[in-house]
Amino acid sequence: MKKIYLDYAATTPVEPKVVEAMRPYHSEKFGNPSSIHSYGQETRAAIEQAREKVARLIGAKPDEIVFTSGGTEADNMALEGVAFANETMGNHIITSSIEHPAVLECCRFLETRGFSVTYLPVDEFGVVSPESVRAAITEKTILVSIMHANNEIGTIQPIAEIAKEIGVRSSESGRKIYFHTDAVQTVGHIPANVDELGVDLLAVSAHKLYGPKGTGFLYVRKGTKLVSLIHGGSQEHNRRGSTENLTGIVGFGAAAEIAAREMGSEIKKMTPLRDKLIKDVLAKIPDTQLNGHPTLRLPNNVNFSINFIEGESILLNLDLEGIAASTGSACSSGTFEPSHVLKAIGLSYQLAHGSIRFSLGKHTTEAEIDQVVEVLDKVVKKLRAMSPLVKGGK
Ligand SMILES: *Cc1c(COP(=O)(O)O)cnc(C)c1O
Repeated sequence: MKKIYLDYAATTPVEPKVVEAMRPYHSEKFGNPSSIHSYGQETRAAIEQAREKVARLIGAKPDEIVFTSGGTEADNMALEGVAFANETMGNHIITSSIEHPAVLECCRFLETRGFSVTYLPVDEFGVVSPESVRAAITEKTILVSIMHANNEIGTIQPIAEIAKEIGVRSSESGRKIYFHTDAVQTVGHIPANVDELGVDLLAVSAHKLYGPKGTGFLYVRKGTKLVSLIHGGSQEHNRRGSTENLTGIVGFGAAAEIAAREMGSEIKKMTPLRDKLIKDVLAKIPDTQLNGHPTLRLPNNVNFSINFIEGESILLNLDLEGIAASTGSACSSGTFEPSHVLKAIGLSYQLAHGSIRFSLGKHTTEAEIDQVVEVLDKVVKKLRAMSPLVKGGK
């Protein structure tokens, strides 16, 4: 059975060229980048080249990049770093109710340390309104964190408009309000330029863009006040102690270079496949709906609610047929609570439980999409035949 991978939003396969670029740094090029001898100089140069490549991808300067252990650490560094560095200015943080746990759990932690957090609602498509951000800003607000695109439903946020509102309020009050965005789902996939977005901080993860796992970075705009989370040596301009993840960083640089080159053609290739999957499923399978915004969505994200049945059952049945997807309603997680994102867009308990996410990638083909629609139809018919929720023998 030929397997079909449609879970690129969870992680991507590492590009063969990225593996190739990393290879020497697993073996003969092993020097500590902080060593001043030739071994160290060689690996220091490799890290700085990678820094230039990832910086170029988001329109930043290399010295505004802090390499981290991934997207989660970058989000933590942004939120906790800004909060603790600026607490004398205020203790209020604004975020949205649909953020990744890397942001939400950080906010919950900061609430236990004297900060107060506003979790903004979203509309039925998962959009945060710039006006709601403006209205939530108080004289105590020090930080706003709104993700660039949502990992579950793919909705892209109006980051530049939100930045404008924050800028206006900042200059009215004469106090800096920092703006962070979790761009893990967008960088390398759609254009994400820090100046066009108007952000001060931006988090990225390598493994979501065909790079290695365990590597990420935080973009920190020059002048941003930030405390360190990891204290030790003077690596990363004194912002993060510890000997650098040399192979990971080199791989990240290679992946960023490839992403910059291929982004345009990937978007052109993926968008029609996404739209075909949406159109065919909605046409073929009754009582289904698309979650997220119809057009302001990632070119690779499709999220359906399939009424009367369980997302987890769909997922397991698809897996038996060799198709890998994802759901916002995993009972195996121990709770029967559906995802906070699906709740925030106002889905009923039942529809939230019947969610399934397909995320496409550079290796996805039209034949795979056809196959998925066919198998999904079969699986849904089978599960609905057993579902106590179906009335009238659907
Ligand atoms: C995957 C993901 C993260 C976490 O990144 P890691 O590198 O796995 O820690 C954070 N935010 C979003 C939106 C993600 O999709």
